[in-house]
This record gives sequence, C-alpha cells and structure tokens, in this order.
Amino acid sequence: MKRIFLTLAVAASVLIGCQQNGQDSVLPTQEAIDMSDFYVETDVHESRGGSEQCHSMRVLNKQLKENPGLYKKMYDVEYATRKFLAGKKGGGGNGNGGGGNTGGGGGGTTPDNLGVVNIPVYVHVVYSNSQQNISDAQIASQMTVLNDDFRKQNSDAGNTPSEFAGVAADAEITFSLAGTFRHSNSTSSWGTNNAVKSAYPPVTPATHLNIWVANIGGGILGYAQFPGGSSATDGVVCSPQYFGTTGYVSAPFNGGRTMTHEVGHYLNLRHIWGDGRCRQDDFVADTPSSDAPNYGCPSYPTVNCRSNDMTMNYMDYTDDACMSMFSEGQKSRMRAIFASGGPRASMLN
Ligand SMILES: [Zn+2]
Repeated sequence: MKRIFLTLAVAASVLIGCQQNGQDSVLPTQEAIDMSDFYVETDVHESRGGSEQCHSMRVLNKQLKENPGLYKKMYDVEYATRKFLAGKKGGGGNGNGGGGNTGGGGGGTTPDNLGVVNIPVYVHVVYSNSQQNISDAQIASQMTVLNDDFRKQNSDAGNTPSEFAGVAADAEITFSLAGTFRHSNSTSSWGTNNAVKSAYPPVTPATHLNIWVANIGGGILGYAQFPGGSSATDGVVCSPQYFGTTGYVSAPFNGGRTMTHEVGHYLNLRHIWGDGRCRQDDFVADTPSSDAPNYGCPSYPTVNCRSNDMTMNYMDYTDDACMSMFSEGQKSRMRAIFASGGPRASMLN
C-alpha cells in the first residue's frame, strides 16, 4: 500500500526543537523516521465472502493482550526496519531530511550487503493418524517451493501481469532442512493457541526456523509469529494437508504457498491489504492499496481502492495456483530483519 509520509514536516519540527535548545549540530537522520502509521493490533475480519485462512494476525492480537511488553518490542523492530531501509535508500550517507518515504521500503534495488540469506529449518511433524505423518518426500516438496518462491525460481513467475512484473523480486533467501522430528499425539486438532509449540518446543529458534506440521482444524491453513515475539513460540504452524505439493495435500492449497505466506509473516511481512481498509498500510510502498483479502483465482485486473490489487502476491489469500510473487518492497522489508541489530540477525553466521 502506498502512503504519503510527512517526513519533512517531522524533520522540520525536530530541527526547530534543536534550535530551541540552542544546538546547531547536524540533524540526526533517524529523528526523521515516521512511525505515525504503525499499528499491530487489527480488526480481524472476514470479507468478500471468504474465510480467515491465516490466523497470524488473530494470534498476534491475543499475544498483545497477554503480554503488555510485546507492543514495545514490535515497535522497536519496526523502527529498526525503517531506519535500516531509510539508510539503504540514502546510500548510507548522512544527508539531512532526504529520506523521503521512510515507511515504504519500495524500490529496494539498492544492495544491502547481506548476500543470499540461508535459513536452516527444523520440521516437527505432529500426527494423530498415519495420514498426518507426512512423508519425507512431502517435506522435501515444501522445501522446494520455499526455495523457488523466495528466489523467484517459481515456474509460474511468468503469470505475474506486466503491471507488477517489474517489481517481482528475488528475495535472495534460501532454506535448508536441518532436521525432522516426528511425534505421535492423540490430539486431532491443535487450534491456534500455540499448544503444539508448548508440547514440542522450538529447537534453537535464534538460529533456526521451526515449523510444526500439525492439524489446526477449523479450515485454518496456518499461522506464524512475527519477529519480536517470544522465542518459546517462534516459528510457523501449518496443517499437513496444506504443506508441500505431494502426498497428503488438499486442493486448492496444494501448491505449498501456505508456507510461503506464513514464512513471509515470520520474516515481518503483513497481509497485502494491511488487515484493514484502504488507508491501513502493509508498510510496503510498491504493493497497491486494498481493503480486504482476495480469494480464489481473481481475474486481472481486480480494482479496489482505485488501483489494481496485487492478487497474485503471496501475502494475499488467493489460491496457491494463482500466486506468483513477492515485491521488491517486501524483499527489502524481509531482509531488514537480518541486518545488524535486527530481530533475526542471529540467524546469520
Ligand atoms: Zn497471513
């Protein structure tokens, strides 16, 4: 979603403040970072006749209520993200007030010097029947999708319409399977209250992405924890029938894109519609505004908020076969969390 930020106005007010204090030193550029649009808690809603496939925001709302310190932690993560992106956009210089759209993160073609980021993955298969005890081949098929999608090697990348093809990004993030744990448990539906993580805690979450493949129930495909949350619950949960592309999989979510979407959240991406009306932001400049999720396989163009929705973005709710891209702005936003001081910097060696 695009937003116009009043960065210069903020910078000017800070400058006035400095002058009032009798200081004439160089204005610190970080003072110009606009956080006025930041939000974490949302009005979770179903709309356009669809269901709430992903419970990441609902889980976040609950955690915010239970943990008063979480808002501050997520605010700090967002501030560090915007500071990193503003510095990257400015080429690392210290010009005063030249940051422009500090909250956007769009047009992220400037190298961030992080290189290709590899994330080692632990998979916890928690099953109550043999069907849910998915095969190694099914797990491997999911790893393939993650690596394809985050490196823009997906075979359907060409389906992205020309309006958006120019900002379709190779996120330069890869995933390697570090180990698989299998647990038999009589629980048939785990819900979204992190119970499966309590039963089988994450293994070295500071350095590894933990994934629980366990039946959630209620038609929910998956949920993830955003950066800044508790390490005890860090990771992604996905129901087995929406994990990977072979074996026990269920159309139309049999393309492995539930995990691409959830790992996007794990790497600090919001839903493409910003979990709210047109003016609610996903903090990414090159994803058009939208007021609700899209479902199924929308025809292009789908117009909302006076622009064409990026319905093929992995962070929408469309069918697996109709998703094909992250944007450059989303790439920049994801990679910022690996920068020095970022919440997942510890994942880099
Ligand atoms: Zn989601």
